[in-house]
Amino acid sequence: MLVTRFAPSPTGYLHIGGLRTALYSYLWAKKNGGKFLLRIEDTDLKRNSKEAAIAIEEAFKWTGLSHDDSITYQSNRFDIYKKYVQQLLDEGKAYYCYMSSAQKDELYEKQKANKERTKYDGRYRDFEGTPPNDIKPVVRIKSPLEGQISFVDGVKGEVKFDVKDVLDDFVIARADGTPLYNFVVAIDDALMGVTEVIRGDDHLSNTPKQMVVYEALGFDIPKFFHVPMILNPSGKKLSKRDGAMDVMDYKKDGILPEALLNFLIRLGWSNGDQEIFSMDEMLDLFNPNDINKSASAYNAEKLSWINTQYIKSLHVDRLVEVLKDYDLDLSCFEKRVELIDLLRDRAKDMNELKSMVNSIIIEPNNYDEKAVEKFLKGDALEILGAFNEELKAKGEITLADEFKEVANKFLESRGLKLKHLAQPIRIAIVGSAVSPSVFDVLSIVGFKDVVKRIDKLVKVGV
Ligand code: GLU
Repeated sequence: MLVTRFAPSPTGYLHIGGLRTALYSYLWAKKNGGKFLLRIEDTDLKRNSKEAAIAIEEAFKWTGLSHDDSITYQSNRFDIYKKYVQQLLDEGKAYYCYMSSAQKDELYEKQKANKERTKYDGRYRDFEGTPPNDIKPVVRIKSPLEGQISFVDGVKGEVKFDVKDVLDDFVIARADGTPLYNFVVAIDDALMGVTEVIRGDDHLSNTPKQMVVYEALGFDIPKFFHVPMILNPSGKKLSKRDGAMDVMDYKKDGILPEALLNFLIRLGWSNGDQEIFSMDEMLDLFNPNDINKSASAYNAEKLSWINTQYIKSLHVDRLVEVLKDYDLDLSCFEKRVELIDLLRDRAKDMNELKSMVNSIIIEPNNYDEKAVEKFLKGDALEILGAFNEELKAKGEITLADEFKEVANKFLESRGLKLKHLAQPIRIAIVGSAVSPSVFDVLSIVGFKDVVKRIDKLVKVGV
């Protein structure tokens, strides 16, 4: 079975680069009827926090990507890692190293002075003497000393490293027994049955080390896909200034998770010039072997455009559900379908949709000064009041066309034009001169509230 995973380190929030590889991993697993697993890489007890892990899980939930099985926390697995450290020690594939930090500094200084890469020199690899008793040893794994290490990456093709450029006998367990990153990643990927690893290409140089671990422990090496970074429009590393980095900032900015995922799939992968992909299409079309070899540029306008496309086209029930996240519950509002349909084409994000909805469903407490000045001149309030009396005489009506008919008859009888009535009505109903089609708005607000709001403006004034 094809198994992928997303393995964030809880050092901060869930960032969009991480979410993109999570999406790719999710799609690839689901497309192949496989499993997509979530592993929280929290072995670095100094840099990781429980709060960050919770924040990542929450952000992940918000995206709607679901993982299989329960979440694996590396911090619960120290016993497993210890067992493998011991196994390698017993098999002579790893050894204790008693080099002091002063000795390490001295070694590295010398190497730097010779313009060499800083690396461990293997001094305790075959040590047989009496170890110093004032040093708690770390455990190092025996890496190949020469030759090449290579693998075929699904994105980059054949990747070759000269062992002497990338490897040394690296530490797999610290002096206090805690295991190190490259060691546990390989163990967990193997034990969790991960067959394909899709991750950022900032991890490319870790791969040879992880391959050493796989080989030492006799595990199968998964297939790797190293995805190029997301850059800013000027080709530099993406920073907070270029766009939100924390996935939850997108939510705050009114971006729909569907739109964010759609945006992310296109950052690094394409299908002709298609821009909008439903989840079904993503599942159908995505293949990590087609991921672009070069880095992709973040484009905030594109995201905003995709977001508007989703606001225009998503099912109303879904938008109603999302609006709950923005503290707006429309589930009991009878005309929610008409309301959303009336506004969705104009909203550029969910915050705007929410405020447009509120401007209609909440009776205004004050009125836009400029609109009042411009449209409530002369006998405008008197006309509005008379129209309201016409409405009351007509009795409860519901349809936009019915409101329109009353208005037309009223205007005709007084020899007036729609412009004499439309803006004053808008001011009474939504507090400003800006709203979608006025009769649609009246129909959604409902007869009783329409009459009440107009009365309020006419009788109480501005
Ligand atoms: N924990 C690593 C990170 O957050 C990812 C490790 C991996 O995908 O292999 O960057």
